[in-house]
Amino acid sequence: MMRFPLWLLPLTMVLSGCHSFEPKVEILRWKENKQAAVALTFDDWTPGHPAIVVPELQKRGMVATFNVITANVKDWEPLRHAASLGNEIADHTTTHPHPYGISFEDEVAAAERKIEAEIPGYKVYTFAYPYGETTDSLKQYLAENGYWAARGTNTPMTDDDFAADTHLRDPQRASDSSKVNGPIDYMDTKTYSVLSETPLSDYAEQLNHAKRVGGMVTFLYHSVYNDSIRDFSYAWITDTVLRQQLDTLASLDLWVTTYADMMHYLRQYANTTIEKVKSSSNEYVFRLKERQPKIFGDAYRPLSILVTVPNAEHITVLQNTDKLGDSSSLQEIVKAYGTEKAEIKPNGSLQLPVTIIQPNQILFNAIPNIGDITLIVQPSH
Ligand SMILES: [Zn+2]
Repeated sequence: MMRFPLWLLPLTMVLSGCHSFEPKVEILRWKENKQAAVALTFDDWTPGHPAIVVPELQKRGMVATFNVITANVKDWEPLRHAASLGNEIADHTTTHPHPYGISFEDEVAAAERKIEAEIPGYKVYTFAYPYGETTDSLKQYLAENGYWAARGTNTPMTDDDFAADTHLRDPQRASDSSKVNGPIDYMDTKTYSVLSETPLSDYAEQLNHAKRVGGMVTFLYHSVYNDSIRDFSYAWITDTVLRQQLDTLASLDLWVTTYADMMHYLRQYANTTIEKVKSSSNEYVFRLKERQPKIFGDAYRPLSILVTVPNAEHITVLQNTDKLGDSSSLQEIVKAYGTEKAEIKPNGSLQLPVTIIQPNQILFNAIPNIGDITLIVQPSH
């Protein structure tokens, strides 16, 4: 009589099957499979920003970018508070000059240093042009000094303006690393200015346009006021109008994030390819390879990865961290994975949290270029 337990047979067949495990792996256009990205930017840090905007964002679990004129700031505590909630504090110069004949050292670099000195542990990544005025030499200065992007004030009009990635759909251009910047000028990105007379329907149309083309939109706000907060510097809107706009935004289930994080994702998406390393019957190893390595230095942010597999319930995702070098980088990586933190395994690899989208699809966030990613099929029991 045969003693070999029959229940082992299906498992043995799966593990030693002649087919190797070949999932479909894709980098998603935006984080968490959202259909479009939205950045809210508020210029000049006027009284309505700490008093009205920061709490209204917090109520909705949203973050935004505040572009600060450093010489005008009397009290940095509200900015430290805004930053602690995940908002971005960005460089809008020291004194808000027109850009012609100014010292970039005094107006750009000094403002960046001031923000970083006043908000401990904080790092400035983006810039907004006073009056929306750009010059080639200022753009070049920002690009050479590590700025990820700079926001202008030109209005997005066409599908291409909103889509933000038309070059990536052209394989010829996508494979040419010299064209990785595509048609978007990262040092002068477009933005829709919210004015006192902007109807809610126009605001919603900007969001829907971004959603239709799977792209992005940046909004530019100035003053926000109510009965007790007097804020009438420029293009003022009431707190009621702001709330209506934020509620419209919340209803569309888009990726609402900071300008810096949106631009980081966009550029990293354009800069990253998937390269298969190896596969066996229960393992698939791939890497997220940067076309140009380290364009963001050690400022890690994950890309969202969608994997189609036979059975999503039994997949573990591990990321090696062998390329990190030291443990302080490992801590930066774990921080960059955010609230749903990656778990450090005893061998130093990270187990990445996985969301099951469908019975055969998982989504997870992974940082490019820090180590190979292994998908492991666990046998069911
Ligand atoms: Zn300004």
